[in-house]
Amino acid sequence: MSGKDNKRTPEKRPYLGIYFRCCHIYSRIYKDREGSAYVGYCPKCMRRVRVKIGEGGTSERFFIAQ
Ligand SMILES: [Zn+2]
Repeated sequence: MSGKDNKRTPEKRPYLGIYFRCCHIYSRIYKDREGSAYVGYCPKCMRRVRVKIGEGGTSERFFIAQ
């Protein structure tokens, strides 16, 4: 952990574009409180999705929920 400046920028909340295969919907999921993963739900069937963020953040910008 480094001394990262923890500013509050709700407008710029990091998100991840994700495609829900279950319902064929493209949506966004947002970072969780700890900032260790992107967490969200399928807008249609409420299937939970969690994408873990690696060291320095995930390099991927788009995911497909299996
Ligand atoms: Zn779904």
